[in-house]
Amino acid sequence: MSKTFMPSYSNISELKNHQLEGLKWTVRHAYTRSEHYRRAMEEVGIKPENIQSLDDIQKLPFTTVNDLKSGYPFPLLSVPMSDVARIHASSGTTGKRKILAYTQKDIDDWATCFARCYEMAGLSVMDRVQIAVGYGVWTAGVGFQLGCELFGAMAVPLGPGNIDLQCEFLIDLQPTVLCCTASMGLLMAEEIKRRGIRDKIALKKMIFGSERSSEAMRQHICDLIGLEELFDIVGMTELYGPGTGIDCPRHEGIHYWADYYILEVLDPDTLKPVAPGEIGEMVVTTLKKEAVPLIRYRTRDLTRLIEHSCSCGNIMPMHDRILGRSDDMIIFRAVNIYPGQIDSALSTIDEIGSEYQIILGHGDDGRDYMTLRVESREGLEKVNHSEIEGKVSTLIKKSLLVSCNVEATSYGSLPRSERKSKRVFDNRMS
Ligand code: ZN
Repeated sequence: MSKTFMPSYSNISELKNHQLEGLKWTVRHAYTRSEHYRRAMEEVGIKPENIQSLDDIQKLPFTTVNDLKSGYPFPLLSVPMSDVARIHASSGTTGKRKILAYTQKDIDDWATCFARCYEMAGLSVMDRVQIAVGYGVWTAGVGFQLGCELFGAMAVPLGPGNIDLQCEFLIDLQPTVLCCTASMGLLMAEEIKRRGIRDKIALKKMIFGSERSSEAMRQHICDLIGLEELFDIVGMTELYGPGTGIDCPRHEGIHYWADYYILEVLDPDTLKPVAPGEIGEMVVTTLKKEAVPLIRYRTRDLTRLIEHSCSCGNIMPMHDRILGRSDDMIIFRAVNIYPGQIDSALSTIDEIGSEYQIILGHGDDGRDYMTLRVESREGLEKVNHSEIEGKVSTLIKKSLLVSCNVEATSYGSLPRSERKSKRVFDNRMS
């Protein structure tokens, strides 16, 4: 019997008691140790002793990305500098990057969360895990690796890219699990197939981090090389890093570690809870984080809570896959569109592949125009492109209520990426 990284209790009321204890600790810790948090709580007239139930979380002020940026380079620090064991930075593409500090206990807690993810995905200590995500100041590589080592499987820390070496190690070291972005997963699956090395490797599972992937893309990757299973790991630098949740083999949703953080799903405009099952912004409050506790941190990520409990029997609650970011919302002819909606619409058409691009532009008539580039599915080279174009445009009109031009091309003609694929090109500003 291998070691478990799940909490020792097994019922919801114990989990809630644990959450309340963690919430009280976090509020008191932040109030007494961080000038920012104390000021924010004083502004809304809240003191630590006012937090007596889980519902009292709604009395607490929100924390935003601006609070992290304005405290650069050590925002929201709630421990003495001598207790800071490590920092990580997020790969923010706009403005100043975010830097987050960790105590040794924070690092240990993160590794436990991550080891629990490998456990949830059904790995054993006999598994070999090829880690093809970025190493460095980012949380990805080191998170996947520390979690793997704590779990007891063998880590093969390769980093992203370098397809030749990835393939060589898959053959020589016989890894059973590949951790990468979904884009890299597609690239690797295509390479494995192209090189004809499927029967020389032992790959069974892929674990995807940090990028939204459509159902069509996941199915395509599985079909290409006959994988047993794909898993989606979630997480963000502000909240330790990747490893704060993953789907289980039943794939009914992402189990998240509710003993480490409380997840609220709120309407981004009103900041009130959405109706059960509705899409909203993920707002997180940490329960154990020492160096940089988060109190009602607005992540900008969109998802929905899954109300029913998982058939696997694990008590950790679930949320849906990340459906995009509230910042990624495209406003096109007064309609709000999330790229995730395009993903799921396109996934219903058999004749096309999973890659696509959305190009937004300004016409001479002053109106906005959207072009959607899609690829025909692999093995369908002889397909009639104009037929596909008609089908996609009808579907988009029906599901998103907007008109767009569709350009269909043959399989493999849209760019592949080893990291995250850029899919939305908004040329309306220039
Ligand atoms: Zn489950």
